Amino acid sequence: MKSPTLSSTTASKVFLNIDIDEVLGLKKNNVWANESTMQPLIFQREVINRDTILAGLKNVADILRIATSNFEIGTSYFCHSWIYDINKNSGWYYNSCRNCKRLIKACGDKFWCNKCQKVVDDAVPRYRIDVGVKDDSEATRFIIFEEEAEKTIGQSAMSVYDIEDKKEGNESEGDLPALIANIIGRRYVFRVKLTEYNKTAYKQSFTATKVFPESYLGNDDKSQKCGNASRSGVKDSMDVSPK
Ligand SMILES: [Zn+2]
Repeated sequence: MKSPTLSSTTASKVFLNIDIDEVLGLKKNNVWANESTMQPLIFQREVINRDTILAGLKNVADILRIATSNFEIGTSYFCHSWIYDINKNSGWYYNSCRNCKRLIKACGDKFWCNKCQKVVDDAVPRYRIDVGVKDDSEATRFIIFEEEAEKTIGQSAMSVYDIEDKKEGNESEGDLPALIANIIGRRYVFRVKLTEYNKTAYKQSFTATKVFPESYLGNDDKSQKCGNASRSGVKDSMDVSPK
């Protein structure tokens, strides 16, 4: 097969590791040998590995104590804890606007989006799961939203909603879908963010902006994710289960 060349202008040339000052500087500093330093340079993306987690790790009591201090809004911490319950009363999803993803309110047989300032025909279910978490120090509540909940549960809110929708009266209303209840008793590493809400909250709860399998705390962070998570997850949750 002949390979056509589409362009030969300098604007479309790709340079790989050419010997310019910036590249030489990077090589000299040896950052290319270190993946965690290299990724943000290229993707401008946050890298969270075991070291990052350990550096910001707090127990639940620490986080509750920080919440009563004069903390800086937006500060995040990591917390290794287990989910002991899910608040069924607040539901596991919210009706969102397809356009802006914000909460929308039922309005007749349609919905009203306050952000978009318009009537919306249909709602998209998005996760909002209010979980009770504990460790050896204390208990509190974390709220897990869409992407992180989907990763943790392994199904989109839409598909869980569809599965539930197709069931006919076998389960009483208000029961949690089994797929979601399944995370009760499991341990995770949460990254929680302290927000304005935490400054004045009567009852504290924290937004979990990331949820990692606890194997992230292992030495070999990614390769043994599955084995590690299930083994220690079962063991640990039995150790600390309420009597
Ligand atoms: Zn909207």
